[in-house]
Amino acid sequence: MLPAFRESVIQLITRTSTDLPPDVRAAMGRAVGSEEPGTRAGQAIAIIAQNIDQAASCEGPICQDTGMPTFEVKTPVGANQIWMRQEIREAVAEATRRGKLRPNSVDSITGENTGNNLGPGTPIVHFDQWERPDIEIKLILKGGGCENTNAQYALPTELDHLGRADRSLDGVRKCVLHAVWKAQGKGCSPGAVGVCIGGDRTSGYTHAKEQLFRTLDDVNPDERLRPLEDAIMEEANRLAVGPMGFSGRTSLIGCKIGALNRLPASFFVSVAYDCWAFRRLGIRVDAASGAITSWLYRDGDAPSTPLLAPDAVAAGFPRTGREIALSAPISEEQIRSLKVGDVVLVSGRVFTGRDAVHAHLMKHEPPVDLRGGVLYHCGPVVAKQGSGWRVTAAGPTTSIREEPYQAEIIKRYGVRVVIGKGGMGAKTLAGLEQSGAVYLNAIGGAAQFYARCIERVDGVSLMEFGTPEAMWHLEVRDFPAIVTMDAHGASLHKDVEEASGQVLETLR
Ligand code: SF4
Repeated sequence: MLPAFRESVIQLITRTSTDLPPDVRAAMGRAVGSEEPGTRAGQAIAIIAQNIDQAASCEGPICQDTGMPTFEVKTPVGANQIWMRQEIREAVAEATRRGKLRPNSVDSITGENTGNNLGPGTPIVHFDQWERPDIEIKLILKGGGCENTNAQYALPTELDHLGRADRSLDGVRKCVLHAVWKAQGKGCSPGAVGVCIGGDRTSGYTHAKEQLFRTLDDVNPDERLRPLEDAIMEEANRLAVGPMGFSGRTSLIGCKIGALNRLPASFFVSVAYDCWAFRRLGIRVDAASGAITSWLYRDGDAPSTPLLAPDAVAAGFPRTGREIALSAPISEEQIRSLKVGDVVLVSGRVFTGRDAVHAHLMKHEPPVDLRGGVLYHCGPVVAKQGSGWRVTAAGPTTSIREEPYQAEIIKRYGVRVVIGKGGMGAKTLAGLEQSGAVYLNAIGGAAQFYARCIERVDGVSLMEFGTPEAMWHLEVRDFPAIVTMDAHGASLHKDVEEASGQVLETLR
């Protein structure tokens, strides 16, 4: 068999998880240049850029959510695909052991994490044959936050702000704009969309995701779709959703559209949204040895060009002098003095909690005292270090999933600060006002940046839920985030959604 094959796949996974491809870096570089320094969007994009450079230089995951590993493999006729699939699975398990992938494969019925990213349906591996003598493996790591913002439309349909979308390219345009608007910052904007016109419900989504294997700067070979991609890029950025939904100039860094034939009765438009942490790479492999012969999407093994100068990365969070320090336990008075738009620096004890913890707290007392405390929606990548732990990636996860529980947990246990990303809904907003608490939006995907704000891990509770779902006790220093929902009923997310909705009206 191919002795170097497994290690080649491990290298592919490692590079994909830790270093963005040049076309995505170039698009993010333009986004950095387009946002005004010192604004919310400017500070958010500066953290994202620092995070991208930090991840590449330390070979750490760009985002703690290393996503659903999806491999597209082309092999020469007659190659043993059964063996290759098994080797790819072993490589995924090994990359997970090495901390390049977070354990992300969960039994859908019991909720149990398999711990190694292997299970029914994970990883996704598609094989195809081609008439070349070598093997090509492409990989995309697409996280849950952006996957949850995918959308599928059946035309004709009525869309908020845009009116009727007919079975035409203009109808497609409206659907994609609607999907970008609906995603707001929940998918960690600025993002990129892969779109499929047609197919059926299943093949449409698959083909939409396949579009994300195109480079952001390529030109659509279909002349009918090229102007549509350009129009959507221009109009989507007029929405001013901006980085993390904070409002700003860059909402979309790429739009790639393909088409499949459809049944006469159906007309689907499927949209696959990928976040700024757009991790996609590929390799060509020698079919006799399994060794890498070349990289796709990047220039061999050469180090990536940093987005920022080294002193800008070393300087850390770009402060304006208006930042407010918060340290747990936090009083109600402190909380009520905060307003939407304030930038805060959190220090002291923070507890992580995501889906399993929230469901648990609805039925059981918390394992720690949460009064005056900070609850961080985060599923970190944590490595054992001696008898303790070290966090290697710790960005926020999408908060809206906790909407059914959050207000009740805040009220019952006296939580004062919730940190997450993408914002929460009306029930939580009312709960914040009633109980005297705030929601802070951290920068989604900035896993390396935030890992450096964690001074130590002081303990862990509810470890039976698995590493990402456990409740980690973290000691943080100067952890920056923005008040996007305050204790006075104000929500930046609501404001930006409404303002961008008004722009959408002009694009009917
Ligand atoms: S950057 Fe945001 S959407 Fe993307 S994988 Fe990370 S947390 Fe999820």
